[in-house]
Amino acid sequence: MKISAIKVHVLKTPLEEPFAFSQGWVRQRSATLVEVTTDTGITGWGEAFAQGLEPPEIAAAAIEHALKPLLLGEDPLQTEVLWHRMYHATRDFGRKGSVIAAISAIDIALWDIAGHARGAPVHELLGGAFRSQVTPYATGFYRIRGKGEAPRLAEEALRHHEAGFRLMKVKLGFGIDDDLEVMRAIGRAIEGKGVRLMIDTNHAYGRAEALRLGRALADHDLVWYEEPVVPEDIEGYREMREKLSMPIAGGENEHTLYGFGRFIAAGAVDIAQPDVGSCGGISACRHIAAIAQAAGVGVNPHVWGSAIAQAASLQVIAALPVAHHSLFAGQPVLEYDRSSHPFRQHLVTTPMRLADGHIAIPTGAGLGITVDRSVIDRFRVA
Ligand code: CA
Repeated sequence: MKISAIKVHVLKTPLEEPFAFSQGWVRQRSATLVEVTTDTGITGWGEAFAQGLEPPEIAAAAIEHALKPLLLGEDPLQTEVLWHRMYHATRDFGRKGSVIAAISAIDIALWDIAGHARGAPVHELLGGAFRSQVTPYATGFYRIRGKGEAPRLAEEALRHHEAGFRLMKVKLGFGIDDDLEVMRAIGRAIEGKGVRLMIDTNHAYGRAEALRLGRALADHDLVWYEEPVVPEDIEGYREMREKLSMPIAGGENEHTLYGFGRFIAAGAVDIAQPDVGSCGGISACRHIAAIAQAAGVGVNPHVWGSAIAQAASLQVIAALPVAHHSLFAGQPVLEYDRSSHPFRQHLVTTPMRLADGHIAIPTGAGLGITVDRSVIDRFRVA
């Protein structure tokens, strides 16, 4: 089998109601999708994660100009060989960010092809499924005005609860006083409902403020505290772990076995959060999971992309071992983005669905999805 064509689709749509996280206002949703075709007719789909503020054209250009020439005519089943070829060829201008997201998209598509070629889901190629379903957590609590939205966010918590979520991640990083007011309001709203919370500041603060926030929330029984400081401040991460009581999580802005290798070796996190569309793809998730496992660090993939990234993430989650084995060991959970996204779920014919508090791992071949091309045509930009 040979790769015969690689097509990139950049999708964008403005949001009727922009929303904010600590780093800025998200005014559009976008995606960089890649379609890898082979001479046998098998096609694989991949997605480069486009952060809320990231132009999707950067990864698209990296695929088109840097990666495509390396891949045309190659055997798509050589996933590990091609990963290293793409990484080494882009090292001097890549290593992090959108270039690695571009590699991620291709790598996901190659695994999708491999699954279709074998007639098996990707998790089977990764060594089998440790689980057939996963508990999702609701990611939400974005701001639509800025500060002072605690009452509205408390109501949002009730909506997630009614939808069946028992884990919720609250976006903080809008000033410590505002953050604490939000947490008090949400805490009151969910009291006695069996809900546990994570917090995520998207590295809004320096070490002193990050510690102040963590200490003030010590009695909230948080599942984790995500991205307390900037990804470059590995020492700061370690300080959070030493001085705060809740688990520290991070990694959506870290990349590859090299980045995560340093991050984990430094003792930066209790929970590593590679994003399959950004860390280097399914191959990179496999590298990172092995490094984390050896260090006793849990892996909980980050995902904020479209249905293709979600499907890839579900395949990775299925194949993740638990970090600390016991009879009732904690299992990885799935990030379920509840914020506005006009085309996320429509891209595939059978999007993931919450049923009885869980999401089933797709068992169809490859990523287990069928892409609806009419949706791509509708949202594609020139
Ligand atoms: Ca995050």
